[in-house]
Amino acid sequence: MRGKHVLIVGGGVAGLSAAIELADLDIRVELNEKSNFLGGHAIGYACKAIDNTCVKCGACMVEEKLQRAVSHPNINISVGSQTQGISKNGRFSASVRRQALCIDPEKCTNCGLCSNRCPVNGAIIKSFSKNNHPFYAINIAKCLYFKDRSCSICCDECPEAAIDLDNSPSEYTIEADAVLIAAGFLPFNPRNKPYGYGRFKNVVTALELENMLKRTGRVKKPSDDLLPQNVAFIQCVGSRDAKLNHLWCSKVCCGSALRMARLIKDRQPETEVTFFYIDVQTFGKDFEQFYREAREDIRMIRAIPADIYETENKALKVNFVNHPLHQTREEIFDLVVLSVGITPGEDIGNLSRIFKLDTDQFGFLKSAGEDATVSSNGVFTAGAVRGPMSIAESIASAGSAAWKIVKYMGGRDLKFD
Ligand SMILES: Cc1cc2nc3c(=O)[nH]c(=O)nc-3n(C[C@H](O)[C@H](O)[C@H](O)COP(=O)(O)OP(=O)(O)OC[C@H]3O[C@@H](n4cnc5c(N)ncnc54)[C@H](O)[C@@H]3O)c2cc1C
Repeated sequence: MRGKHVLIVGGGVAGLSAAIELADLDIRVELNEKSNFLGGHAIGYACKAIDNTCVKCGACMVEEKLQRAVSHPNINISVGSQTQGISKNGRFSASVRRQALCIDPEKCTNCGLCSNRCPVNGAIIKSFSKNNHPFYAINIAKCLYFKDRSCSICCDECPEAAIDLDNSPSEYTIEADAVLIAAGFLPFNPRNKPYGYGRFKNVVTALELENMLKRTGRVKKPSDDLLPQNVAFIQCVGSRDAKLNHLWCSKVCCGSALRMARLIKDRQPETEVTFFYIDVQTFGKDFEQFYREAREDIRMIRAIPADIYETENKALKVNFVNHPLHQTREEIFDLVVLSVGITPGEDIGNLSRIFKLDTDQFGFLKSAGEDATVSSNGVFTAGAVRGPMSIAESIASAGSAAWKIVKYMGGRDLKFD
């Protein structure tokens, strides 16, 4: 379909997958990602294979999509970019704002000197994937240059003169025949629950544990960097919660947490793992065997803790009701992992206003003409922006959206393999 252009909003696994599907058909894709890096949440997930046996967590699929998208000649990628407005007169015309690009991708060699010399922790951030180039980005919220111009050591140290902290944001227009919104989700913020997240160092989210496993391969206590003797997972944090009016199940958290729990037992067998849950949601046809094996290593407690207190030595006292006996119990853990749920993305309001899309009863995006084979207005949605879904489901949803876009643009005879 030479000559056709599609704008994709969001460079997570859904946006990347749709971009590849369309670009393989000679369609020009403009992929706009608002953060500094491509890959969305799932690029930070660790492979959870045990003894080199795949447990189908999906993490490797994201890396593969990212690698293909960044090298595809028909995909033009803009990170740090967000659509501000859109008009339609036959084709779409989108106005896009791109934040200042402080590191020039053409010059940067990913040597890491900027990051090594930076005096402020977190002012230069690293991607989770070497397929993101540059691998580094300036965090404007923490960089001293953006605060009071007192430091520009990264510019002085860069041997390629790739860093320009005075670079300004830019605005430009994209013309497109169709638009795909793949802006993903927002993990539930557990500060709204009585588990001490943000106050107790050793209470982390499942996403933070994923990132720790991906970067270091081990699980350590943030308070002292030592291995924990015992870890508790608490499921359904922000999902299936009537008090929050979050009645939906996030679907992926049980599988993800159980796989991480097994990985911990495999790599750190001395660490005890306890799993607090309401009921375990199944995932995939191999689930029964996986769950049976998991229960041999992991202590399963069917209860959701009420609250957590910190002890003097930074351990965590977890209170819960032991159901068969209806007794309140307290147990001490070194590390607590909160399985935070999937909630509608923070830009949903803006996206729904700009692209004239409705939200469903929970606040996720609906496609216009969702049930029809061809959307009537040329704006489509894919991935977790539509509701909780796994990596594999996000890829499938992206494939389906790409097919609908091709139909909409007139390529009715095309078939996907
Ligand atoms: C705790 C937890 C554990 C999980 N574990 C697993 C697992 O083990 N296996 C599995 O299959 N799935 C897992 N998932 C689900 C998985 O994260 C999702 O399926 C996947 O991330 C969805 O991809 P996506 O591209 O739709 O969204 P995202 O990953 O959220 O990516 C969306 C992208 O869009 C960008 N964006 C947002 N707004 C805009 C905008 N306005 N303009 C431009 N760009 C924008 C974002 O910056 C982001 O890069 C887990 C989820 C959670 C919460």
